[in-house]
Amino acid sequence: MTTLDIAHESREAAPAGAAPRAKPSLVGLTRPQLMDALKDFGLPEKHLRMRAGQIWNGIYNRGLTRFDGMTTLSKELRDKLGQGFDISRLDIVTEQKSIDGTRKWLLRLPSAVPGVPGPEIETVYIPEEGRGTLCVSSQVGCTLTCTFCHTGTQKLVRNLTAGEIVGQILIARDALGEWPDGGRNSEDRLITNIVMMGMGEPLYNFENVRDALEVVSDGEGLSLSKRRITLSTSGVVPMIEKAGEEIGCMLAISLHAVNDETRNKLVPLNKKYPIKELLDACRNYPGVSNARRITFEYVMLKGVNDSIEDAKELVRLLKGIPAKINLIPFNPWPGSPYECSDWAQIEKFADFVNRAGYASPVRTPRGRDIMAACGQLKSETVKKRASERFRDARAEA
Ligand code: SAH
Ligand code: SF4
Repeated sequence: MTTLDIAHESREAAPAGAAPRAKPSLVGLTRPQLMDALKDFGLPEKHLRMRAGQIWNGIYNRGLTRFDGMTTLSKELRDKLGQGFDISRLDIVTEQKSIDGTRKWLLRLPSAVPGVPGPEIETVYIPEEGRGTLCVSSQVGCTLTCTFCHTGTQKLVRNLTAGEIVGQILIARDALGEWPDGGRNSEDRLITNIVMMGMGEPLYNFENVRDALEVVSDGEGLSLSKRRITLSTSGVVPMIEKAGEEIGCMLAISLHAVNDETRNKLVPLNKKYPIKELLDACRNYPGVSNARRITFEYVMLKGVNDSIEDAKELVRLLKGIPAKINLIPFNPWPGSPYECSDWAQIEKFADFVNRAGYASPVRTPRGRDIMAACGQLKSETVKKRASERFRDARAEA
């Protein structure tokens, strides 16, 4: 299959990616955090709310990456802010476009150690009829080791900051040409939905994900309502209620199996939080109702979890929970130990689930040719010991 590889200049610019950010970033700060940062920077108390609003507008409605363009601020203040803070984008390493229109960006985060390039993450945009979904990463790698997931083969390198989570959306808006106003006032905005389904387990990076989503859903900025934001978790039970209370977005659960024996193999976290506890947490998810259903994701693995008995048990387990079911054909990756269920079997499974009252459940794989489909994301970044990092830095210097 043909894919379009767009190499950006920053690919060549290893030294840029290898330099730690000199100034703190304002991107991804919630409004109160932004006001605090400005206060600590010495701005007068009585102007804080207004200044924060002006800066907010510049970043999230106009897509500015420098203070120069914030003409509602005096030239003097713009210069001063520019000396103290950063509002620039993450580096784009590559951008790929699938034949089906899906786009994937490999992004480089700021470096923590001079001379060593920062870690890399992936973000995916999936255009569909009437909507456009951005699949956002929350961690570099993942601590969990789900056996069907490519990210699960990559150790956790680190959590993303709130700014790095929001930064993925800003980059996608740049690429899609959605400024000024971030598409907010347009009937046909291109990014209509956000799914926290990229690399990482969002509930293991709770505070940063919560803050990022507060910024993203702010009605005076990017303005994506919480009903259009879905957080997917492999089942971190103790954090589910907290997520409902403090984030309040839509919830998706990576269920993938209907008995603990199989789920222990597919999602090893199940040994800690088995299916019953997980489903109890779903029943109690704050705000759950027939209008705000929980999505249960179910990856179709040949001969593992795809029998009609499994489908029956799935329907039985979900009884009483306002639920949607998303059947995901398994997306292979190099060396993956599973096969995707046969299409006829997926249809049978889907039919059964449909007849039980769950609509349109099969998720068509998108962007498989550029390894952008669910579970195919993985960057080359590895966690090095500090001693290795210093050795590499010395060797490069
Ligand atoms: N860590 C979170 C979110 C990221 S994964 C979670 O596990 O929910 C997003 C979805 O893709 C999850 O349902 C995940 O189980 C699924 N997935 C992972 N690998 C996959 C693969 N190879 N094929 C299809 N879906 C996969
Ligand atoms: Fe981590 Fe989710 Fe992949 Fe499991 S499926 S390894 S939790 S990213």
